[in-house]
Amino acid sequence: MLRVGLTGGLGSGKSTAAAMFREQGIHLLEADAIARSMMQPGEAVYRAIVEHFGPSVVRPDGALDRARLAALAFGQGRLAELNRIVHPPVVAEQERRTQEIFASHPQAVVMIESALIFEAEAWGTAPGWRRRFDRVILIQAPDDLKIERFLARILPADVSCEQRMAAEADARARLAAQLPDAEKAARSDYVIDNSGALDATRRQVERIAAELRAQAGV
Ligand code: ADP
Repeated sequence: MLRVGLTGGLGSGKSTAAAMFREQGIHLLEADAIARSMMQPGEAVYRAIVEHFGPSVVRPDGALDRARLAALAFGQGRLAELNRIVHPPVVAEQERRTQEIFASHPQAVVMIESALIFEAEAWGTAPGWRRRFDRVILIQAPDDLKIERFLARILPADVSCEQRMAAEADARARLAAQLPDAEKAARSDYVIDNSGALDATRRQVERIAAELRAQAGV
């Protein structure tokens, strides 16, 4: 068994590379998806968020107002408060699901895709990545390219100039809240360069996946 973290900044290509690793037979857990499911009404994380941030973060239908929550977190400097609530249970759930996979597939490579592996250590919200991961992979691209790709993914084709500028400012603020790639690269076992075409990224993924499978004893 081998526990692998896949990390990278916003728009770096984590989901893209993760899908390629999955095609290579690697078991994938997505931190974002786990966090989203734990933030549904009725879940303990949902209750803790509402208790802490108040009723303004709840939509009329009872779901969390994610835009409002993001505005509080990134616009009003309350990201650390949100992360302190969300990170520990999400990491615990990742560990639970990882153990479940190993129980039925002892030689599996389990990969956790998470933007914040190193940040959670630096911020103290979920320290211990060295204990949780046998290997960490960083996916990297220049910051301007990350922003460009991220905006192309989220914005509709007919977006106005003002909307684009607002979305870009928001994306840059989120990226600025993350650690710089150079610091992450220094702590990572593998660095994937995703500044080129998808084929070039796929070749790097295939080479690393083969090494990981060999290390896991597959
Ligand atoms: P992340 O999960 O790190 O936020 P994504 O994998 O969603 O990043 O990538 C951001 C956007 O860039 C997506 O629309 C994706 O399809 C696109 N993308 C990723 N890598 C490349 C690449 N090498 N060439 C072109 N587009 C890419």
